[in-house]
Amino acid sequence: MSYDPSNIFGKILRGEIPAHRVYEDDTVLVMMDIFPQSRGHCLVIPKAPSRNLLDADPATLSAVMPLVQKVAKAVRAATGADGIRLAQFNEAPAGQTVFHLHFHVIPVYEGVALGAHGGGKADDAELAALARDIAAAL
Ligand code: AMP
Repeated sequence: MSYDPSNIFGKILRGEIPAHRVYEDDTVLVMMDIFPQSRGHCLVIPKAPSRNLLDADPATLSAVMPLVQKVAKAVRAATGADGIRLAQFNEAPAGQTVFHLHFHVIPVYEGVALGAHGGGKADDAELAALARDIAAAL
């Protein structure tokens, strides 16, 4: 299967629809997941077009992983999370719903169950505040 630029992250990367941006440079966008599995759930999105890990350029992967680590540390610092789960889904049977490569950085809080993948929409003001706090911790 090939990359389809009409996916929702493609639209966000082109500025066609809004997002709670945490960090952006020439190669990557970090933003809040609007249907978070926990408070502070972020997405790290390489700008190079690929559906997922399976068709990504290895150079894209090696460039993005240090930032994934940096975001994980910033999310932990900004939220006080007890742990961080990293998730990445490849094709619909594996749970992928948006077909542009992205990495989930999901804070985990001791004794608090994670919400469902793609569950309820978060409050915009809360997402904006989290985006600011995580950006400040980066
Ligand atoms: P995946 O299932 O790995 O493809 O993950 C896609 C993620 O994108 C899900 O966790 C959704 O909650 C999230 N998502 C969908 N639409 C948006 C959006 N407009 N802005 C931010 N996150 C989104």
